[in-house]
Amino acid sequence: MWVLGIDTSCDDTGVGLVKDGQVVVNLIRSQVALHQAYGGVVPELASREHLKAIRPLAERALAEAGLSPAGLDLVAATRGPGLIGALLVGFTFAKGLAFALDRPFLGIHHLEAHIVAAWPEGLDPPFLALVASGGHTHLFEVLDLGRYRLLGATLDDAAGEAFDKVARLLGLGFPGGPEIERLAEEAEEEAPFAVPLRGQKGLDFSFSGLKTRAVQLLEKGYSKPAIARGFQKAAVAHLQEVLLEAVRRTGHRTLLVAGGVAANRALRAGLEGAGLRVYFPPKGLSQDNGAMVALAAYRRFLKGEPPHPLSLDARAYWPLEEVSHLAGVE
Ligand code: ATP
Ligand code: FE
Repeated sequence: MWVLGIDTSCDDTGVGLVKDGQVVVNLIRSQVALHQAYGGVVPELASREHLKAIRPLAERALAEAGLSPAGLDLVAATRGPGLIGALLVGFTFAKGLAFALDRPFLGIHHLEAHIVAAWPEGLDPPFLALVASGGHTHLFEVLDLGRYRLLGATLDDAAGEAFDKVARLLGLGFPGGPEIERLAEEAEEEAPFAVPLRGQKGLDFSFSGLKTRAVQLLEKGYSKPAIARGFQKAAVAHLQEVLLEAVRRTGHRTLLVAGGVAANRALRAGLEGAGLRVYFPPKGLSQDNGAMVALAAYRRFLKGEPPHPLSLDARAYWPLEEVSHLAGVE
């Protein structure tokens, strides 16, 4: 069974093809260079770029898989959350394709797609799932596919956003995560950062204090590699401490780490050494992409989710806890 998945929630156009639950093609067209000049994503430009990219990218994905459009069995796209103009491009394209081919269509929650990217087949819930990216730092208890309980979230910046902002401060490129990681590995000393929210009552995250601290340390004359290393160490320690507290409170010893920040090697090493069962997305599936959307759609389809009506709308704001439960689950 072939599933096409599209993600245009932010600034990357993603088209993926999944065959019987295995990723065959996963193409991402990045808009980084375009938005870099403005210091952030310009929504109108993002929509226009998605519009230019989506059809050629979908055609290339099919060509790489050696598949004709008629070979598709299911078409899926991110329904939300995200930039509405950007979302609408991929969402409408997918609905149009499903209509033209007379195939079922599913609108997928972006965070569910991130979680499914890290969710090995056969792993039964409940477990914990952290989604850490440029726009989210959300910790969920996963009760089933389609049933999520929010345990904690960032009170200010997202984890990836903090990596991006500190990278910018240090004059590094975008996205900042990989740049900080590289510089931190070169460092010979480490600038002093306190781990945020130690001793808090909840399971929340906070990253904006680390960014302020980085500004201070730079003014004090600490080297850029030392700041990168100290910042990354504190950010990773913070994520780890909240996750371990969540393990303690819920009793779940299995954890998925998803979203762009899941690529961070220091985070992986720290969590793998913590005596938990930790799952990360395979290479290429942690950042925004279309294959994760196809994987989530495939899982839902197998569980009996009926096709979504083509009158379905995209949603800029859509908490994961409000995602529809699967047909027959409740
Ligand atoms: P969202 O999923 O919240 O809509 P997004 O478009 O930012 O947002 P992703 O592509 O999942 O989603 O994540 C990108 C983020 O991940 C960026 O902020 C980037 O800096 C961060 N990131 C990528 N690689 C690493 C890394 N190795 N270490 C730390 N952060 C990283
Ligand atoms: Fe994302």
